[in-house]
Amino acid sequence: MTPHYPDVVNMAVPGFVALIVIELVWIKLKGRGGRYELRDALTSLLLGAGNVAAGILLGFVTVTFLYTLWQYRLFDLGYSVWVLLLCFVLDDLRYYWVHRLGHRVRWVWASHVNHHSSQHYNLTTALRQTWTGTFTLMMLLRVPLVLLGFHPAMILFSGGMNLIYQFWIHTEVISRMPRWFEAVMNTPSHHRVHHGRNPRYLDSNYAGVFIVWDKLFGTFVPEDSAEPVEYGLVKNLGTFNPLRVAFHEWIGLFSDVLQPGLTLRQRLAYALAPPGWSHDGSRMTSDMLKACDGSLKAAEPQHAGGS
Ligand SMILES: [Zn+2]
Ligand SMILES: [Zn+2]
Repeated sequence: MTPHYPDVVNMAVPGFVALIVIELVWIKLKGRGGRYELRDALTSLLLGAGNVAAGILLGFVTVTFLYTLWQYRLFDLGYSVWVLLLCFVLDDLRYYWVHRLGHRVRWVWASHVNHHSSQHYNLTTALRQTWTGTFTLMMLLRVPLVLLGFHPAMILFSGGMNLIYQFWIHTEVISRMPRWFEAVMNTPSHHRVHHGRNPRYLDSNYAGVFIVWDKLFGTFVPEDSAEPVEYGLVKNLGTFNPLRVAFHEWIGLFSDVLQPGLTLRQRLAYALAPPGWSHDGSRMTSDMLKACDGSLKAAEPQHAGGS
């Protein structure tokens, strides 16, 4: 019989609210550790609420898909604690790749971009979750787990625990965790880098819980105190309207894909190439921004005249 896995994300909401209040009070008292702007925090809360609503409306798509697939599983791993732990680790690997695709494929970025839309970095930023995740079809990355014999309810529970873990790392209050912890786990320091718009910080630290995936797959960038993180998007939105934050990239994507005079290949690239790709080279991808930044830095000593 399938054990019952609680809806941990909804259960954690009072904890999220309590920690946000504690962070806010801490920043006010100490005068450091981040900034709060009322309309930014409000937008974050509304985006979080919209994510919950989207889950109620569209969550059944993923659930139905995973349970249908479950009939075709190759093994049945059961429900022991060891299987659950293995499921959690493998699901975190799944998260790493979903998140990496979320930054490298515009179709997936259109859904993920709102998580990066705040120019602040505090616990409310964590609530900026997607409304349109179902449309990215990233549920497909869960297929191997189901076919291997991890029960869909266990997989969804692991995903929920993963999301809860990621809440507390959205803060500037904590500078560094103990060295061993920083080596293995995703931390506020690592995830601040992920939210950076500085070219050298782009496309790094995709980890959910374990930072080891970034180290393994070559996307780890440590936080450099000499280069403070600037938060937000390469091109910031300049809006706090949650509807615009949630849908702007989808609108941009479709208007690019449907513009007249393109080849089929170019239309596909507007949807599937990295964000910033353009058929006429009028925009910059993160790779181009990094290359520009690299050559500027290489040229710096001459310009600086050695001073
Ligand atoms: Zn991201
Ligand atoms: Zn984040």
